[in-house]
Amino acid sequence: MISEQDYALQALNSFNVKSNSSTIYFPSSIDDLQQLAQLDAVTCGQFYILGEGSNSLFVQDKAPVIIKPKFMGISIQEGVDEYRVTVGASENWHQLVAFCINEGIYGLENLALIPGSVGAAPVQNIGAYGVEFADFCLKVDFFDFNTSSLVELSAQACDFSYRESIFKHELHNRGVITQVVLTFPKNWQAKLTYQGLDELPANASAKEVMQQVIKIRQSKLPDPNELPNAGSFFKNPVVSQSLFSQLHKQYPNMPHYPQASGEVKLAAGWLIDQLGLKGGRFLHVGVHQKQALVLVNYGQGAGKDVVGLAKYIQQRVFEHFAVTIEPEVRMIGELGEQAFNDLTDFSVVSELTHD
Ligand SMILES: Cc1cc2nc3c(=O)[nH]c(=O)nc-3n(C[C@H](O)[C@H](O)[C@H](O)COP(=O)(O)OP(=O)(O)OC[C@H]3O[C@@H](n4cnc5c(N)ncnc54)[C@H](O)[C@@H]3O)c2cc1C
Repeated sequence: MISEQDYALQALNSFNVKSNSSTIYFPSSIDDLQQLAQLDAVTCGQFYILGEGSNSLFVQDKAPVIIKPKFMGISIQEGVDEYRVTVGASENWHQLVAFCINEGIYGLENLALIPGSVGAAPVQNIGAYGVEFADFCLKVDFFDFNTSSLVELSAQACDFSYRESIFKHELHNRGVITQVVLTFPKNWQAKLTYQGLDELPANASAKEVMQQVIKIRQSKLPDPNELPNAGSFFKNPVVSQSLFSQLHKQYPNMPHYPQASGEVKLAAGWLIDQLGLKGGRFLHVGVHQKQALVLVNYGQGAGKDVVGLAKYIQQRVFEHFAVTIEPEVRMIGELGEQAFNDLTDFSVVSELTHD
């Protein structure tokens, strides 16, 4: 298996922060994964599986052992009523979306231009414009380091919910997703309810929907290649009905989304925006000018500066709204992934500057 020592990760994370791994492994077969299962770093959990690094923040100068899978390939099986598409985990997500539409297989168009790999898509059940990965997932192949074997997980076993799956919980840091199988009914219907897509005609083609999604995303979100970022930094918080009622009296225009549980989801970006933090800067990092939910690195920022900025935002939101917002982005320290609340080594931010 290919591996390299003292590997610089700056080009492998969309925040473009510097960090070095003592060793990076590029497994491309089950044999490779079986070898990795024997490694000390793996048996003691001090490693990180890296896709394209668009939802990962290296918070220290040193990173743990990195496993960067290389499982490629796309194949299509046509049934009477549906297509099944089997995809290697290391394929690029957006290229998969474009490939499917080109082949006349529709459904993923609302998920166009989401950065990252196919293998990371089930981990946080990626979603956008009213559609999520779970809507098309038939199964996920997962190599479990604990048993050194490949298991097939049905969509139900993946336990998908909003930005959640079993891979963030019971199977967290337990193994590598090698491929996913997606299913697409032939009787496709465009999903145009989301703001921005509702201006398309009801008979819009999948390609037109994809182009519209790309247009909206390009107008709203900074391209990580031009302004390094990891998309939405925080998840939308879900609060109790009683807290929501109090807040709603004070802020009648507050965007809110009632949940089946009786709780209410709030828009993290709106909360941050109310505090006037949009466009604010600390050293070389800041809150994006147009999107309060996106933190950006203006060039020389370090992981610990982004963490400091995120802690500052979290604290300000809590002080003002009594709502705790949690990062969607994964934090990786020297010994592996770390909980945001456990991070102690970060730049202390007391205020942001505005141009
Ligand atoms: C500009 C921008 C816009 C974005 N918009 C959206 C959006 O609209 N919706 C959305 O949901 N997300 C969005 N994101 C977040 C990001 O695109 C997704 O989280 C994506 O799935 C990350 O893919 P990645 O390969 O870069 O993951 P990485 O950051 O490399 O990894 C993310 C997680 O997946 C795990 N992982 C990766 N590959 C594997 C594997 N093969 N096996 C097991 N675990 C693995 C990692 O260990 C980590 O826990 C956006 C990000 C950016 C930069």
